[in-house]
Amino acid sequence: MQFGMLIDGEFVTANAEPRIDSINPATLASTGSVPTASATDVDRAVRAAAHAQRDWAQRSVWERAAQLRTLAASIRARGTEILQLEAADTGNTIGKLGADVQIAAGYLEYFAGLGSELKGETIPATARGLHFTLREPYGVVARIVPFNHPFMFAAAHLAAPLMAGNAVVLKTPETSPLSGSLLAELCAAHLPRGLVNVLHGYGMPTGDALVRHPLVRRIGFTGSAATGLAIQRAAAETGVKHVSLELGGKNPFIVFPDADLDAVVTAAIAGMNFSWAGQSCGSTSRLLLHESVHDDIVAKVALRLGALKLGDPLDPTSEMGPVNSARHHERVMQHIATAQVEGARLVTGGDRPPGTAFARGHWVAPTLFADVTPTMSIAREEVFGPVMCALRWRDEAEAYAIANATDYGLTAAVWTRDLGTAMRAMRAIDAGTVWINAAGQHFVGTPFGGWKDSGLGGEECLDELLSYSQLKAVHVLS
Ligand code: NAD
Repeated sequence: MQFGMLIDGEFVTANAEPRIDSINPATLASTGSVPTASATDVDRAVRAAAHAQRDWAQRSVWERAAQLRTLAASIRARGTEILQLEAADTGNTIGKLGADVQIAAGYLEYFAGLGSELKGETIPATARGLHFTLREPYGVVARIVPFNHPFMFAAAHLAAPLMAGNAVVLKTPETSPLSGSLLAELCAAHLPRGLVNVLHGYGMPTGDALVRHPLVRRIGFTGSAATGLAIQRAAAETGVKHVSLELGGKNPFIVFPDADLDAVVTAAIAGMNFSWAGQSCGSTSRLLLHESVHDDIVAKVALRLGALKLGDPLDPTSEMGPVNSARHHERVMQHIATAQVEGARLVTGGDRPPGTAFARGHWVAPTLFADVTPTMSIAREEVFGPVMCALRWRDEAEAYAIANATDYGLTAAVWTRDLGTAMRAMRAIDAGTVWINAAGQHFVGTPFGGWKDSGLGGEECLDELLSYSQLKAVHVLS
């Protein structure tokens, strides 16, 4: 089936550029194909967005909010169709994936409710004058999203820029682009022409042309740290642009000896997001275990990994599907091979799962390495797959030193029953999010964003909305 992209309210289903054939990573069957956007298509989309934005910015926040709520309702109404396409196109298992549609619609509604927060301030700068600030939109915002939750990111990431009065040009990931076409249909039906444009294509040339476009002054990117850096460079070469980045992680899960160990094992599995084969920026892939509980937890986690039900992403009982693409499968297997060469002990997994059902498709068995040291690649590099590693520590200072010994700083989980330990840990760890006796949950309205190479800026909160506006100071003097 041929899917389209949306430029200036029109569906483009074919152009001169090469198409992307998307596949179900579990079966390698075709899921559909999309056209890809050339630099000319990007230019048309950005200009259409700039045109639509002028009228959109004139509308009250209440009018904008009403349209975002309508879009959210339309997403919920088509939820089943979106999820089935998304599960087949990504390999994410449909049982847990249902939340993605609700999360996407929920963020549209959340930001719709924050319109009146786009307010300025009055400043008593002189005795007789009036000095105040206004929050105004940037104009055209580029949003570029990754493959792990393509629909959820694409839809949720429209909310803050649109609410702040911007238009958006969205680029879908080159693997798993199809749900972006469904979102495009809903935007065409429920938003003004040209306000949202949805482009398919690779990083080069499509994403790069979008970042470099002179009318794009605000870029919101979610993806890998390497691409984040490339986007910062490209943006800096073409103008002074505001860039926010949501990047990768190598997130520590620190267990103190006084923790509830049964809860720890359950959370260690939940925090890894096996429903999407560990392909989550926040996956707690580094178990930092006190030496007194290390062997027990490693044994219990390995048992649980062995019991996970791998299977068809469209089967609601499947607990894990394949990784997203052939290229990504190769990357994950390379990380596993390097870990073994560097001396990590393979406890479970490490290859394709056994059985003919997994001979085709991009399957990787849930994998755990132990006897990992902080300098090994598997302790420092993001795998973005179903691969965990366990490191042993003896005293608290050592635990924090290991936790901070990567270039990333996205999330951390700390397990202890002692309040004093928890208080010291939450301050000692360099990360944008710290969970105490929990792992993985996002809470609407609280910032999610990385430190160090994990990103720039916080999302899912009021700051995200404000970051899509720029301040103007006005001085009225009599
Ligand atoms: P990626 O960086 O390879 O690609 C992400 C997007 O960027 C894709 O749409 C791609 O086409 C585009 N792109 C690639 N090169 C580009 C360029 N030069 N200019 C403009 N666009 C370009 O990432 P991925 O493999 O799709 O996703 C996995 C990564 O995303 C992981 O590192 C993961 O941790 C991260 N991620 C972070 C968050 C977060 O909130 N922090 C959420 C999800 C995923």
